[in-house]
Amino acid sequence: MRKFCVRCGAEVPEVIDGLCPNCLLHEGKVFTLPKEIKITTCSLCGSIKVGNKWVSDIPIEDYVRKIIASSMVVHRDVRNVSVEAGIEGGTVVARVRGSLGRTTVESDFIIKLSVGKVLCPQCIKIKGNYFEALVQIRSIFEFRDIFKDHILNNILNSNLFSRYISGVELLREGIDVKVINQGMARKLSSSLVSTYGGYTTSSWMDAGFSSGRKRSKLTISTRLLGLMPCDIVLFKGSPAIVHSLGGEVVKFKLLTSGELVKLHIPRMSLDEVKLLNRNSYELLNAKVVNLVNDKVVVKDLGRGLVFELPLTDKVGVGSKVKLLIYGGNAYMISTRSE
Ligand SMILES: [Zn+2]
Ligand SMILES: [Zn+2]
Repeated sequence: MRKFCVRCGAEVPEVIDGLCPNCLLHEGKVFTLPKEIKITTCSLCGSIKVGNKWVSDIPIEDYVRKIIASSMVVHRDVRNVSVEAGIEGGTVVARVRGSLGRTTVESDFIIKLSVGKVLCPQCIKIKGNYFEALVQIRSIFEFRDIFKDHILNNILNSNLFSRYISGVELLREGIDVKVINQGMARKLSSSLVSTYGGYTTSSWMDAGFSSGRKRSKLTISTRLLGLMPCDIVLFKGSPAIVHSLGGEVVKFKLLTSGELVKLHIPRMSLDEVKLLNRNSYELLNAKVVNLVNDKVVVKDLGRGLVFELPLTDKVGVGSKVKLLIYGGNAYMISTRSE
């Protein structure tokens, strides 16, 4: 039996509700989309309110696409529906596609987008300088500016932590960080320890009463070692380089022998390790020019001076190394150990 569309009269293999797929689409009987989409975002951090939750890591286009997909009405015979959505100013431009029998149907929609801007609960707390925990960052060695800058960068640029920080105070002896959530404060503290080496202790302080309940704030004392990889130290009087640190462990590489010494930070004796002042030594770019038995011949690339030193690391002729000049002696630092 021949089939004709009642609207346009075309002869088609099959009609749906008396219409060809094209006419069905034009009659608006294939896809019905909302005329308007309302969303709520945080004016400070850009999080989107999804149901009762605030979500920070979803692009607004993705969220709008999900809303369209879940709210649109699709003709019962349409299969393989897909939605694309872009945002242009205050409108959503959506393209919806599907298959109707053997025909692919596609339609574009312009949807009004209303964005309500409010502060999310976290930003309200941050603005109010609210905090549930104080992370006190201190160091065992002197709290140097370079160390302070490194930590600050690390904390404030962290996607995970920066949203939970309501205040940062720079002190001569360290940094105090106010965190709006105790779990996040603990995570921040342990992340710092695992990056910089150290240990933590926590305590509770009385924070008075609020709404008739006794409140206490958590203080997490975060004692970091205060050394960084490549710092030059004296270990039991002889030069060494900080090889690596993290958790409760620091490793030094002795420049006299190449030996690796591992120390447990909470138990380490400060009499054994001294951080060398940057002005007390020179660090030169150098190159290995020869290897003779257990000796290495290193040439300083600046002045061209040549040193014959014990072979304390795996280097080859041509390897770039550093020369530490300290106390009238030269030591090789292989750049691999940096
Ligand atoms: Zn038709
Ligand atoms: Zn927010």
